[in-house]
Parts: sequence; structure tokens; C-alpha cells
Amino acid sequence: MSLISAEETASASSLLAWYDRHRRVLPWRALAGEGADPYRVWLSEIMLQQTTVQTVKGYFERFLVRFPTVEALAAAPVEAVMQAWAGLGYYSRARNLHACAKVVAEEYGGHFPADERALLTLPGIGAYTAGAVASIAFNEPAVAVDGNVERVLSRLVALEEPLPRAKPTIRALALSLMPHDRPGDFAQAMMDLGATICTPKRPACALCPWSGPCQARRDGTAETFPRKEAKKQGALRLGAAFVAVRADGQVLLRDRPPRGLLGGMAEVPGSEWSPAFDVTGAIALAPFQAEWKILPGIVRHVFTHFPLELAVYRAEIPAITAAPAGSRWQKRALLHEEALPTVMRKVLAHAAIE
Ligand code: SF4
Repeated sequence: MSLISAEETASASSLLAWYDRHRRVLPWRALAGEGADPYRVWLSEIMLQQTTVQTVKGYFERFLVRFPTVEALAAAPVEAVMQAWAGLGYYSRARNLHACAKVVAEEYGGHFPADERALLTLPGIGAYTAGAVASIAFNEPAVAVDGNVERVLSRLVALEEPLPRAKPTIRALALSLMPHDRPGDFAQAMMDLGATICTPKRPACALCPWSGPCQARRDGTAETFPRKEAKKQGALRLGAAFVAVRADGQVLLRDRPPRGLLGGMAEVPGSEWSPAFDVTGAIALAPFQAEWKILPGIVRHVFTHFPLELAVYRAEIPAITAAPAGSRWQKRALLHEEALPTVMRKVLAHAAIE
């Protein structure tokens, strides 16, 4: 693999010519010839991390109605932001999103900095997002390298070095290809190429503007890139969840601690989640004494680093029962307004609540 030979043969101009004809129309993207809105670019890039364009579209549009500017987002209570985010996953991103909006509103007068290094100092903005905002919103010479771009470029040069070790090599390759007159369009063109043509399975090489110089296409090995180091799958964790339903239909909820996994989100009371959890003793962890019945089956959920299996208990409670310290009753009809993560929605569905 040689960066120089790739630079000579795969050109930004052929990619940009393709992009000018086939660019995707997306709610956060400026139309050709229009200036991009940094707030929209930043918000969409944070939302798109580990989430599909299709899912993000609805969230993005609802978010903009609720928080039309970075100042509006900064002024909103964090609970409102978490609630609008619920279902997108990776909840620390929502917390950082709010923290970042506050810094931009209070320290930058509501204007995102254009410089990649200044962007990197803001909460929740890593190398990818800083590169995306700098290039797309401000046309600064920066690259945004995510999984899509890693796939395209590792195929282009048939890069044998495995990820994540190959990240600096791929970034250097992206920088060597980036045109200084259109870095924002180059970043978006790479995103579109990875999303629509150079897909993980069955890439449409015949339609690709880099079909000629692409080494993996020539070798017939495109689908085998990028190379990856074997990663360890986290151990299965077990736990129990307790769904208490009062005679007036209210359900017992509590909030998770603000930091850590699903920080600040709502949940039904439950046990810790650990590989060694013994479900036979779970009943001792119920929020109060009642006729707890274990429901048939279990709830399965896969987090980024581990799979989880929860046993679900349910009890019918008299309407006068007070909520134990740290928890609260919530009406069934208002559960959709709670910042309940997907795993908790599965638990409530399993207990025939939602
Ligand atoms: S030719 Fe095929 S493998 Fe190579 S960059 Fe294009 S779509 Fe990807």
C-alpha cells in the first residue's frame, strides 16, 4: 500500500463530480450553493453517531421544532433534552450535547467556533465531529473519518493494517486526498459514497467514481475490507426488574444516577446487572413487599459492550401505596413522556404495560 500512488490515481475531483450529480438530500444538509448552518451540522453529526440516517431524520426534525437554536437548547432543562433524545441510545451524548450548547451560548455568543482545534475542546466533540463541523459548516481544511470513510479508504488502497491500529494511516490518506477548495463537499461526498455505493456488503463498484483506481475492486476483495483486530465480546450480564402497578394504574419509576450507563434515564426498580447475578435471590431486592410474580420468559437487550438478560417481576399494589424513597409513581398514559431507554420499554412491554 502506498499513500502516494493512491493520491495519484484516486482524485478528489472525480469524487466531487460524482457528488455534484448524486448528493443525498438530507434535512440537515444545505442545498448546493447554500451555506451550511453550524447548529444543524453539529446536531445531526452527534445524532448520527451509531444511528442510521432513517432513524435520525424524525428525531432531528422534532428536536429542531423544540430547540430551534443553540441558545434555545442551552436554555432548556437537561431533562427536556434527555426526553427528546430517548430512544436514540448512548445517552451520555445527549448530556454532552446540552453541555456543549451551554458553552457555545455562554462563551462563544451562540456561534460555533470554525477552527477544528477549538471545536475539539467542546463537550462531546471528538475528532470525527470536529472535522465534520469544521469542514461542512465552515469549509475549513479538515477531514471527518468515521466507519464509512474507513471502509471506503481501506478498500481503495487494500489496506492490510487492521482497525483500530490503522486509524492514523486512514486519516493521513483522507488528508492527502482532501481538496483545499471544497473540504466540506469532500467530507459529505465520502459519507455519501460509503452510505450508498461502497456499502459493507455488495458494494456497487460499477457505479463508483473510484472504481478505476480501487485496489480492492481490482483484486475482487472489497467485502473483506476493512481488516479488523479480533475483539472480545463482553460477558453476558444478568439482572431483575420489578414492575409495580398500583390499582389506579400508576407504575413505579426511579431515575438512574446521572453518570454512567444510561445516566439520568428513567427505569423501573431493579437489581444490579452483573455476570454473577443470581436470579433465585432476586425477590429480596424488590422495592417493597408485595405478591411479586415472575413473568414467563426474559427480556434481552444488547448494549455496545455487553448483552443483558433481565428476569421481570410484576405486582399489583393498592392505590394508597406510597413510593419508596428515590422513586415515584407515574401514570401509564404519561409513560411516553419519560426518558425511558429502550431496554426499559422492553421490560414494560414484557409486563404488558406499554
Ligand atoms: S470501487 Fe467498490 S470497493 Fe472500491 S471504493 Fe468504490 S465501491 Fe468501494
